[in-house]
Amino acid sequence: MKRFWDKVKKTDGCWEWQASGRGRGYGCFKFKGKVYDSHRFIWFLTFGKWPSKWILHTCNNRGCVRPNHLYEGTPLQNYWDMRKNGNAHITPRKYANKEEKNKAYRKRKLEYWHRRGNYLREIRRSKLVNIPV
Ligand SMILES: [Zn+2]
Repeated sequence: MKRFWDKVKKTDGCWEWQASGRGRGYGCFKFKGKVYDSHRFIWFLTFGKWPSKWILHTCNNRGCVRPNHLYEGTPLQNYWDMRKNGNAHITPRKYANKEEKNKAYRKRKLEYWHRRGNYLREIRRSKLVNIPV
């Protein structure tokens, strides 16, 4: 396990994972041919079991593997944490845009059916008028 701890730079605050990550700021660690997220791996080393859910950071530092900065949570919790930390620029705007687009789309569709309904009614009316008695 020395290989693992060699890659951890301990400071008074966060313990930074020094080895290469998989992108997104998370570290990873190869062990017996399998690749693990470093913060999941350290959870296992510290508590002797694999985390059941997601591992989240209280310090908002994705490269951090300090066990007491980590806690188990859900993706939704993760999302709210990010928001709380003012770090959620990723999601809300995207969701908002999508919501706006959906609204506009629904409105257009409604208008279309409305127009179409009027159109059909007009045809029917004109036909009625034109029916020879
Ligand atoms: Zn930390």
